[in-house]
Amino acid sequence: MNVHTIIPVDGAMSAANFSDLPVRAQCPQCRKVVMSQVLDTVGLGTWLLALVLLLIPPLCFVPFFIKACKDKEHRCPNCGAIMGVKKLVG
Ligand SMILES: [Zn+2]
Repeated sequence: MNVHTIIPVDGAMSAANFSDLPVRAQCPQCRKVVMSQVLDTVGLGTWLLALVLLLIPPLCFVPFFIKACKDKEHRCPNCGAIMGVKKLVG
């Protein structure tokens, strides 16, 4: 006898996996399911990389211009609330 368990699929993700790319998630503020807007923000990781690169003076500002060296802030396009942040460090 086969017993199938049906797991209800909710429209909103409770634990969205925030990455470099926009994700579909429910905004904690306006409760709408939206595609997040990803903004690059200078975070702890960016500063740490800059500190390391101080040893090579011409390169110490490079992390501030490279997207991969920045935190990714996911914002709601509807109300502008921060939905989640992918941090490089921390
Ligand atoms: Zn919102």
